Amino acid sequence: MREFRERIAAAQPGRADTDRRWIYVPYDRLTDETGPLTEQPAAETGVVMMEALGKARRRPYHKKKLGLILAGERHFALRQAARGVKVIYLFTEGDHVDGFTEAQRLLGEREMAIMQPAERELRLDVDRARKTGVRLSEVKDTTWLSTEADFDNCYRLSGSQILEAKPLVMDRFYRAMRTKTGILMRGGKPVGGRFSYDAENRRPWRGKPRPPRRPSFAPDAITREALEQVAELFPESFGSIEGFDLPVTREQALEAWRFAREHLLAEFGPYEDAMSSREPDLFHSKISAALNVSLILPGEVIADVVKDADKGRIPLASAEGFIRQVLGWREYMRHVHRVTDGYRKIHGGHPPRDPYAGAKPSALDAHRKLPAAYWGVKCGWNCVDTVVEQVMREGWSHHITRLMVLSNLATLMGVEPRELTDWFWVAYVDAYDWVVETNVLGMGTFGDGGVTATKPYVSGAAYIHRMSDYCEGCRFDPKKATGEGSCPFTALYWSFLERNAERLEGNMRMAMPLVTLAKKPAAERKALRERAEAAINELESARY
Ligand code: SF4
Repeated sequence: MREFRERIAAAQPGRADTDRRWIYVPYDRLTDETGPLTEQPAAETGVVMMEALGKARRRPYHKKKLGLILAGERHFALRQAARGVKVIYLFTEGDHVDGFTEAQRLLGEREMAIMQPAERELRLDVDRARKTGVRLSEVKDTTWLSTEADFDNCYRLSGSQILEAKPLVMDRFYRAMRTKTGILMRGGKPVGGRFSYDAENRRPWRGKPRPPRRPSFAPDAITREALEQVAELFPESFGSIEGFDLPVTREQALEAWRFAREHLLAEFGPYEDAMSSREPDLFHSKISAALNVSLILPGEVIADVVKDADKGRIPLASAEGFIRQVLGWREYMRHVHRVTDGYRKIHGGHPPRDPYAGAKPSALDAHRKLPAAYWGVKCGWNCVDTVVEQVMREGWSHHITRLMVLSNLATLMGVEPRELTDWFWVAYVDAYDWVVETNVLGMGTFGDGGVTATKPYVSGAAYIHRMSDYCEGCRFDPKKATGEGSCPFTALYWSFLERNAERLEGNMRMAMPLVTLAKKPAAERKALRERAEAAINELESARY
């Protein structure tokens, strides 16, 4: 770390510098484009940053995620120093509370401003630090596009009510946000006449058009130091640090985004649900990791997409599909996390005594362990092995592989939703509590019993076969449900429905599959059940 330490040392404050306005910049708000860093000249600003190893060791996070955060923080600190901001950069073996305490010691009586933390875990640290006398004053997080009132008013929520599986259908919030912001709206109506073009964005990809080669960001000396440190300090962490090429500076994030705008987004919409082993990234912008640490801001990417759609450079269906992800899902998930306190305030959430421990809603009463296949032990199911391999390599795979392969399998098997949530939290470079807990406990596993999703997102082999090329290279036949060589996904699907038939009764969106199941002869149902049990035994017998 010599290179970074030497370069940042020059930005340390002197005695007179305590008069500056001091701002704590967390690991996920690396921006001077909005918020408190924009509110006074650099010469009157000081920032506190920290690397808290206790936080990094809380889970075996993907090595590339640790690399992204360390390199991102260090580059950001140097960027501030270069523009005349004073920087207190702390290294602590402990957690953020230890870092805040040390910062307060250095600053004396001075107060630190902090944008209201996005992560619940950091909010807990801030509260604990305050109780010990650390002076942290929260200011509005201006990176978000919606306010608490936008969400609460939309669903008429009040106070600290427990959500009894009350559906908070995302579409309602998305429409309200489109109307409020005027994004893709004209004369009070959605451009093109519809709010959603989701139905047009479900094409499988069959080899054409070919996605272009993406820019890669070779690590510089600062990033290399951070990566070496990750390899040394976290050898047991998930995934690989090799081939790190994530954007870690604002300039790199902007370059990645420019490329996505010019070369990917036009095709993003039609193929956003497609999965491919040959082209795993297809036309996804892959901007989520940079977006979630604020190297680029949601308002910026939306403004660009609106501009491109207006000029006809991006078809409306692609633009709307992207905007739905950022203005809709991303903001919605953050609010669901807030109002449920990370799913603690939901029926069945079982708030744990330890405030840092995760809530465990499991509406489908699923309690199996996550199989070894998720930790990289090959299972020979090509879809699963292919996606897990990408996640181990990159810390990323796109949303349909997350939902319809990884979450689908765990839900069909009856894996405890918390187990899968913790795995996603560890495995993905863009995962933070506000996004991963809602996405997996809610959307991915139906653990919340229908707060975020109107039905469990589960399927047999037919969906994966239709939307991917995985089945071509698989030892199983996606068209066979039982017998030798049959694809286990289909039997798992019917067995899941049989197991949960009572719980799902009355769910209109599950009525058809339940009727189809009921019509199956007893012998067929028995064969499906046995095939599903054999598949689960096979996955559970593998060890890591
Ligand atoms: Fe996955 Fe089944 Fe297709 Fe194999 S045949 S890739 S297990 S869906």
